Amino acid sequence: MPQGEALSITDILQRPMLDLRISVTDRCNLRCAYCMPRESFSEDHVFLPRAELLSFEEIERLAKLFILLGVKKIRLTGGEPLLRRRIEQLVEMLAALRTTQGQPVEIAMTTNGVLLAGKAQSLKDAGLSRLTVSLDGLSDETFRRMSDSDVPAQTVLDGIAAAQRAGFSPIKVNMVVQRGVNDHEIMPMAEHFRNGGIVLRFIEYMDAGSSNGWRFDEVVTAQQILEQVASHHPILPVDPGYSGEVAERWRYADGGGEIGVIAAITRAFCQTCSRARLSTDGKLYTCLFATQGKDLRTPLRQGTPDQALTGLITNYWGQRNDRYSQLRHDVAEFATAKKIEMSYIGG
Ligand code: SAM
Ligand code: SF4
Ligand code: SF4
Repeated sequence: MPQGEALSITDILQRPMLDLRISVTDRCNLRCAYCMPRESFSEDHVFLPRAELLSFEEIERLAKLFILLGVKKIRLTGGEPLLRRRIEQLVEMLAALRTTQGQPVEIAMTTNGVLLAGKAQSLKDAGLSRLTVSLDGLSDETFRRMSDSDVPAQTVLDGIAAAQRAGFSPIKVNMVVQRGVNDHEIMPMAEHFRNGGIVLRFIEYMDAGSSNGWRFDEVVTAQQILEQVASHHPILPVDPGYSGEVAERWRYADGGGEIGVIAAITRAFCQTCSRARLSTDGKLYTCLFATQGKDLRTPLRQGTPDQALTGLITNYWGQRNDRYSQLRHDVAEFATAKKIEMSYIGG
């Protein structure tokens, strides 16, 4: 390939591969019932042993190949990414990567924010460009119920404040809304983050993984959420920032800032989905709801040259025709399929 030229690979539905989500650990310090319910992730749950995790050097090598194939944005996630030791070092290694045109690659992270207060500045210094913090309610009662932990919501709010001081802007806050559990916090959350330079994004509760016992009647739809917010503060639509953006964007008409909705259940966005996922142990997944992935760690550790690894990724992406969210209501097998857990595949 001539220097300076990026390969751009597409799947069966002509979707390019532009984003890479890397799960850096399958462990977490919370037990959100919609993601890692304690019944399935108890004290004696066996997480991946250290030797099975991709090392930072292995992640960096794979990231370079993904970038060569068109990836422009990398998101570190998990599990809880701040539990991975010396995560700042990985951020620094990835932030130094450039596309074949010499452009910096955007490095983002999704975190539950519990450890953020102590790490925000070092993450910024390491070159992290964007930060999303998950927070499902402001009251301790709701937060504890959603996260099944004793952590006060204030710990996460302190983390967000530290991230603002460190210069992350705009910070996004993700709130999964589950009917009867935290939907009464929609307006308190909206009021709290309005006028604060933070983009609150409401996420429809998804049927991710196989252990959360998801039911459709627990989903509060994006439409219902938007109607509720708009009845207090008029909102106007905002154009997508780029093709394939998962959140629909809205702004308060009075200048109070922006909100978003991620409507994976009621307004599927598979058509423009350009996200690849690398699991903690180095498997490539082409959909959040996948039941299987492509092992890249074994060939990597066997000394396979870059060109052959690139070929494996290209072929796997080339066979991709995932459209789970578009089809979930029509394909009967989806209801019984054993889907990979989000904490392992990377949310
Ligand atoms: N631990 C980090 C966190 O919570 O931000 C990163 C990993 S978490 C799996 C990534 C995102 O997925 C979080 O914003 C979380 O709320 C969201 N998530 C997890 N399970 C979900 C579900 N069943 N439906 C919708 N969103 C979910
Ligand atoms: Fe942990 Fe994030 Fe899953 Fe909650 S959503 S259990 S914080 S990985
Ligand atoms: Fe992408 Fe799969 Fe989600 Fe559709 S269901 S948007 S293909 S991750």
